[in-house]
Amino acid sequence: MYIPYGHQSITEEDIQAVVDVLRSDYLTTGPAIGEFEQKAADYVGAKYAVAVSNGTAALHIACLAAGIAPGDEVITTPITFAASANCVLYCGGRPVFADIDPVTYNIDPAEIERKITPKTKAIIPVHFTGQPCEMEEIHRIAREHGLAVIEDAAHALGAEYKGQKIGSLPSDMTAFSFHPVKPITTGEGGMVVTDDAKLYERLCLFRSHGITRAEGLMGQNEGGWYYEQLELGYNYRMTDIQAALGSSQLEKLDAFIQRRSYLAGRYTEAFAGIPGLACPEQLPHAASGWHLYVLQFLEQERGQAFARLREAGIGVNVHYIPVYHHPYYRKHGYQDTFCPHAEQLYQHMLSLPLYPGLTEGQQDVVIEQVKKLV
Ligand SMILES: *Cc1c(COP(=O)(O)O)cnc(C)c1O
Repeated sequence: MYIPYGHQSITEEDIQAVVDVLRSDYLTTGPAIGEFEQKAADYVGAKYAVAVSNGTAALHIACLAAGIAPGDEVITTPITFAASANCVLYCGGRPVFADIDPVTYNIDPAEIERKITPKTKAIIPVHFTGQPCEMEEIHRIAREHGLAVIEDAAHALGAEYKGQKIGSLPSDMTAFSFHPVKPITTGEGGMVVTDDAKLYERLCLFRSHGITRAEGLMGQNEGGWYYEQLELGYNYRMTDIQAALGSSQLEKLDAFIQRRSYLAGRYTEAFAGIPGLACPEQLPHAASGWHLYVLQFLEQERGQAFARLREAGIGVNVHYIPVYHHPYYRKHGYQDTFCPHAEQLYQHMLSLPLYPGLTEGQQDVVIEQVKKLV
């Protein structure tokens, strides 16, 4: 029996919601999109939501809407999936990596300040593992330096910072992912939420070829067939099949997070006080979505722990290799980038299995195997 690190939870209701769309008139750009967007916007507490084909597309159109262009620098964390930085490269901008806080593993606001130059245009904080970044500090820095804030909340749908849901904070935009291991899934899928009407308009343009039929945006109107391409956009549209699954999944998000949080608590209870292990610390004023449970092996050789757990059928993983380590980044001017806290965490971290469908019995097997190692 293999226990993966993450897995979707799909019910008969989810399947029925998808089947209903398949029997309807619209497979894409139909009513299920608007319904999902409205539901998600209401859930996170944002005015506008734009559903797209995946989380990477969400980050890309957010950078485009924010006006990231060649010559611009955007500050993000190295402990993230490559997409958090690639979205800047897509726009011709340059990602700049600021080191993490060794306690929360999230981007350190003081390190952000250290990396600001006259070219800095935006900050992309990533709520790593679902634990919110210190957003109050990040917003203060952004205000002082006139920077846009695009939250990468791929891990953090449903998480809260100072009593407010991620997606309702005063950032310019917040991006979510609905990949199967993420808090809810649409197969592939993503979303950007914002409170800004102008950004919403631009996000909608970039999602669909830069094309509009809106009277207010077009220079003229030659008739009922007429539309205009105003920007160089993409086809990043979500299908109604995905959106229906997303609406159905959203109903269960709170229960998913409750279950993840309970299981995370069980891990911490089991490992607390064991020398050589470091459990993830939580901010008292935030509530994590518990996308990942990252355990640090401080004395054990991490590579060996990984191999032994995999042999035992436990799908541990490493989230993440610091982004600037990748050959593409090394080749493109990052060979001297070095964030000591990120390096230190990377040497010791393993993600343990954590998902709503993980049983206590399966989790006990994981706990037992980890304890055997140390
Ligand atoms: C998953 C993920 C993304 C990209 O989302 P996709 O839907 O897979 O494109 C971006 N950032 C982070 C931190 C992620 O974990």
